[in-house]
Amino acid sequence: MLDNLNNRPELPPEIARRRTFAIISHPDAGKTTLTEKFLLFGGAIQMAGQVRAKGEARRTRSDFMAMEKDRGISVSASAMSFDFKEFRFNLVDTPGHSDFSEDTYRTLTAVDAAVMVIDGAKGVESQTQKLFEVCRMRDLPILTFCNKMDRESRDVFEIIDEIQENLAIDVTPASWPIGIGRDFIGCYDILRDRLELMDRADRNKVSESIEINGLDDPKLAEHVPADLLEKLQEDLEMVRELMPPMDAALMAEGSLTPIWFGSAINSFGVKELMEGIAKFGPEPQIQTAQPRQILPEETKVTGFVFKVQANMDPKHRDRVAFVRLASGHFLRGMKMTHVRTKKPMSITNPVMFLASDRELAEEAWAGDIIGIPNHGQLRIGDTLTEGEALRVSGIPSFAPELLQGVRAGDPLKAKHLEKALMQFAEEGAAKVFKPSIGSGFIVGVVGQLQFEVLASRIELEYGLPVRFEASQFTSARWVNGDTQAVEKFADSNKQHIAHDHDGDIVYLTRLQWDIDRVERDYPDVRLTATKEMM
Ligand code: GDP
Repeated sequence: MLDNLNNRPELPPEIARRRTFAIISHPDAGKTTLTEKFLLFGGAIQMAGQVRAKGEARRTRSDFMAMEKDRGISVSASAMSFDFKEFRFNLVDTPGHSDFSEDTYRTLTAVDAAVMVIDGAKGVESQTQKLFEVCRMRDLPILTFCNKMDRESRDVFEIIDEIQENLAIDVTPASWPIGIGRDFIGCYDILRDRLELMDRADRNKVSESIEINGLDDPKLAEHVPADLLEKLQEDLEMVRELMPPMDAALMAEGSLTPIWFGSAINSFGVKELMEGIAKFGPEPQIQTAQPRQILPEETKVTGFVFKVQANMDPKHRDRVAFVRLASGHFLRGMKMTHVRTKKPMSITNPVMFLASDRELAEEAWAGDIIGIPNHGQLRIGDTLTEGEALRVSGIPSFAPELLQGVRAGDPLKAKHLEKALMQFAEEGAAKVFKPSIGSGFIVGVVGQLQFEVLASRIELEYGLPVRFEASQFTSARWVNGDTQAVEKFADSNKQHIAHDHDGDIVYLTRLQWDIDRVERDYPDVRLTATKEMM
């Protein structure tokens, strides 16, 4: 029997033991360090160095470009699988930079829970807040890790208050720190009544764990100095009076988060957090889809693409589509149906990111992430099934916040440029609009840095120097409504109309006033800032 609280006995054990999650945090809070320690305790030690290389590469802008060029590294860390006790953990990486929030959103559609890492000295920072809100949109269960307790940190009650206030979520302490900063000696494990002591000498060692018989146990005094013990007893008394107890159901619906205190760099508190993930999960969840939802225990295999990474090897122009399996037991070589095109697809060389290298995935279960190399057939939002016409829903595309025109340095290379832009659009790296009047393209992104990454990738991967230039437009909206109304609208507003890479009609403007006017003058069409990717 698995030591967990999940109440879906119908799940086959192989699925019930899977935990698929992402880590969200503000830069520098310790995501990379925590990931390393997960891998260390998960037995995939070789990988730790790679994660580090990636984390540090993010430090400067130029290094970030270098990392984008070195696609290999970022890919092997995109999804990592490792075992912890009888569980299989799938950790899906979220892009580190805030400019890639759309990517992040889609990544979060592929996980069942998120671990939120905060820095004990800084509390809830801007990026944590943003990412949390994305999790909230999906009611994702959240487990919180308050890191860097070995350093001077804020008062614990204050940190918890801040999370509750800023994020509007209830917090229940799963552990409680003993001492602060230099006096920090470890934690009291509230969930299991244990004393966990930190070893400052050996950073890769699992903490010493001592079983305690309640707060009056004389054993406590043997390990905890009297003043700290007194404070601990007082604190825990207050916790008991003021804070809700752990409740797996409330966590599952996203209204309560358990918080662990620790120090990732000292490997402290990490194992308890992993046990929390194992115990409270959740296990692979039901997937919303049209025309019916998909249960993970269904014997037929289904999956959906949430991320595409192209040109990992510029010589081959291959792409890897990252697929989250929503149901069933996948075997290598299976024939699946690509629902959007209704075409069969043999999945002969799927990869999984186990240990340090990508490996051929001989089999995978609902909850797992597999990479499928392909030549562009697989796009974000695509569903794969064993024949049934199901479409996974809820993977949105957001209207870009910045628009710029783009031109090839060499006008004779315009066709090449179009091909490159279309590929990045399919990868989800940018929005590409072809205005119905004039030549050229308009590229839309969420953050300025994306323009630079794009220019550098187009040059590197297509040998094509490009220029971005100011566009007369600043906003884009998708045009919805019945075909006739949309066509009529497009005809009489040609100077504002463009098509996206899927051929869908988009309205471009620089004035909110224009958008309001359209809504007033054309009651039959709707302008939207998101479109669902199918
Ligand atoms: P990321 O940007 O969230 O991936 O953060 P990193 O894992 O790269 O950590 C940022 C910095 O904080 C690095 O210098 C780490 O060595 C340091 N760090 C991480 N965890 C701890 C910790 O528990 N205690 C202390 N003192 N420093 C830490």
